[in-house]
Amino acid sequence: MPSQIAQILDGKALAKKIHEELKQRVQILQAERGRPPGLAVVMVGDNPASAAYVRNKERACAKVGIASFNRYFPAQTSQQQLEQVIEELNQDSRVDGILVQLPLPDHLDSVSLLHQIRPDKDADGLHPLNLGKLLRSEPGLRSCTPAGVMRLLQEYDIELQGKQVVVVGRSILVGKPLALMLLAKNATVTIAHSRTRDLASVARNADILVAAVGRTKLITADMVKPGAVVVDVGINRLSDTEGNSRLVGDVDFDAVAEIAQYITPVPGGVGPMTVAMLLHNTVLSYSQNLQTS
Ligand code: NAP
Repeated sequence: MPSQIAQILDGKALAKKIHEELKQRVQILQAERGRPPGLAVVMVGDNPASAAYVRNKERACAKVGIASFNRYFPAQTSQQQLEQVIEELNQDSRVDGILVQLPLPDHLDSVSLLHQIRPDKDADGLHPLNLGKLLRSEPGLRSCTPAGVMRLLQEYDIELQGKQVVVVGRSILVGKPLALMLLAKNATVTIAHSRTRDLASVARNADILVAAVGRTKLITADMVKPGAVVVDVGINRLSDTEGNSRLVGDVDFDAVAEIAQYITPVPGGVGPMTVAMLLHNTVLSYSQNLQTS
């Protein structure tokens, strides 16, 4: 029998609660504004995982009362065509949030497209102005996945001040903004990456360990301090010989759950929180974007 079973950080349940709160907020605001909030996801190509994410977002928007203005383009669409689309969405007064679904096909420059999104419609919080505001601890639209992790930790009253936090992964999408958010809450933050020497001993120092890498079972039980909080951002698709597939994270869940105090499942942990934060950002832009009323 395992000596300790970690408590689940239930992102699915919390996301549902956030959707309900947003729905009520939208109902009130819509009565004043005369239109619903709008989110536009721009998708290029037919990557099945991206298509599933976009469908998910559209369903979540519908539940909350956000209108979807999604735009779908074939893989061979040019940079110039997409720039024009972003410009149209920037000008469209029904659209409060714009999101370019990543990854884009190789011939496209995603960074320059992200820079082109109006910062006050930057639902993904990836525009340099919003990232700069995060760096300066100013209010602004925050990147959805790290914001979702922070909201989940807050929900379970997990103390951050003075705690040793190790974030494995340093992408601009997850690792770096998350490290800044944790720092703003007075955690002592270490960022680990593919060149980190002896990841196991670095990870074992963590009171709170976040894995944002994209490698199945990168984090094994011997890398986790007993009683730590473990947040698994990773999404990896495993297929068996019969062609069935399932999603797993970066953490060896069963073994780590025996020694951690809290752990996020995959699926049902950080993923639903990312969508909840996207809707949150859209409603925030809508409530602040008075010139579009
Ligand atoms: P990414 O851009 O590929 O970054 C991965 C990071 O992991 C890089 O910083 C890389 O280090 C580091 N890394 C790679 N191998 C490593 C190793 N062996 N040891 C330590 N670090 C290693 O990925 P991402 O966009 O941040 O996404 C990370 C994972 O989160 C993916 O599985 C993605 O699908 C998932 N994700 C989930 C959500 C969600 O909503 N749940 C949202 C976004 C992403 P270097 O910088 O040195 O290369």
